[in-house]
Amino acid sequence: MDSVLVIASGNTGKLREIHALLDPFRVNVLPQSDFNVPEADELHPTFIENALVKARHACYHTGLPALADDSGICVRALNNAPGVLSARYAGEPKSDQRNNQKLVESLSSASDRSAYYYCVMVLLQHVEDPRPIIAEGLWHGEIIMSPRGEGGFGYDPYFFIPELKKTAAELHSDVKNKISHRGKALARLIANLRQ
Ligand code: IMP
Repeated sequence: MDSVLVIASGNTGKLREIHALLDPFRVNVLPQSDFNVPEADELHPTFIENALVKARHACYHTGLPALADDSGICVRALNNAPGVLSARYAGEPKSDQRNNQKLVESLSSASDRSAYYYCVMVLLQHVEDPRPIIAEGLWHGEIIMSPRGEGGFGYDPYFFIPELKKTAAELHSDVKNKISHRGKALARLIANLRQ
């Protein structure tokens, strides 16, 4: 039987991408919502701490191995904000639309709109696993002032990749998964696992 891996996230955009990325492997990928895992508190100032908390929380509630992704967008002109607060940049309840509006307003007079997506992935075999497998990925681009594209999620319609002359939301999902922060982090995590 395939092994089971719980994805420690309730974000449907992330879940869709992680599912596609793990599709070639013999692993039964299940969202933590299948086990009624409550949302973990993400109180830490670093991505890695939040990812570890989320993975451990999912292991604790399911008794299964868990993979967590903590990610966000860091904008140079905003001192790397929204960073770890990306999901809640415009406050509660979480809203991609309000987050994007706040981002664009914050950058209205900025000349440098460079930004990068960051993702750290953590795999824990069990709740007391002392050796988490950890990998990170970065994706550089810039913020544009009007949205383009229908794909992806979150900040993607405003995240422009100059080399491709497209936003992340204009890329086919297979292309985004190959080059994104999440795609890179997961590819590295799998390479680390194989070692
Ligand atoms: P987390 O669930 O605390 O890791 O928050 C991640 C947040 O970062 C998401 O809710 C999005 O706002 C943003 N984010 C991370 N990765 C992406 C991406 O691939 N596209 C668009 N937004 C992203």
